[in-house]
Amino acid sequence: MIKTPQLRGLLANYQNILVAEEFESFEREVERLLLHYYDLLAKLAPGQERGRKVHELLHEQELASAHIKTTCQKGCGACCHLEVEITSDDAAILADSVAQGIALDSVRLREMSARERLDKAWAQGAVPSNRCVFLGADNACRNYENRPAVCRKHSVVSPVAECEKVGGNPVPKLMPLAEIILSAAANQVGNNFGALSKMLQLEMDQRLEVVLNTGKIGILTEEIL
Ligand code: SF4
Repeated sequence: MIKTPQLRGLLANYQNILVAEEFESFEREVERLLLHYYDLLAKLAPGQERGRKVHELLHEQELASAHIKTTCQKGCGACCHLEVEITSDDAAILADSVAQGIALDSVRLREMSARERLDKAWAQGAVPSNRCVFLGADNACRNYENRPAVCRKHSVVSPVAECEKVGGNPVPKLMPLAEIILSAAANQVGNNFGALSKMLQLEMDQRLEVVLNTGKIGILTEEIL
């Protein structure tokens, strides 16, 4: 199964510190848990239902690791200027929130969604053009309740300055089970993974296409007229 880069990094670290037999046993346990969460998520409907379950599972991990102090605080927003990657399920949840009234700058979303993966623009760090479309003027998430899985699992234990400076070296808080859960989610059939702007734009475009193809725009226009 595909593993998140953080899970791959974790396995590589353990390979360095464990003897071969111990590492094999550790690797088998990771695979067992991956399969467990994969099967659990595979029973759920794609989109809201499966995405919300992932959020719930990640929240449990957050609570279980609450004793590890992080340096993250509301109003920082440094990681909301990175190429945040989300699943199709998360894109569906975000698109629903937009349909329900969370405002966003559609011109900026379209511009950001046109970027290639690892576009060099991201290397500029916390510049206005890299701001997530849901980041408020106070540098807090305007869509916190619906924030994607990656935003839920990411936090750091290093000084804030490491996140703020270009080329800094932030140290993420390790939540191994959260990495396994996210990997299990990314392996679900049809649950693609990509930049937030690209995935959200795609989801919104697909929804618009369905509306156009079913003629609902015409019905709405007649109602308004
Ligand atoms: S969705 Fe919210 S938490 Fe996630 S990157 Fe955007 S502003 Fe930040």
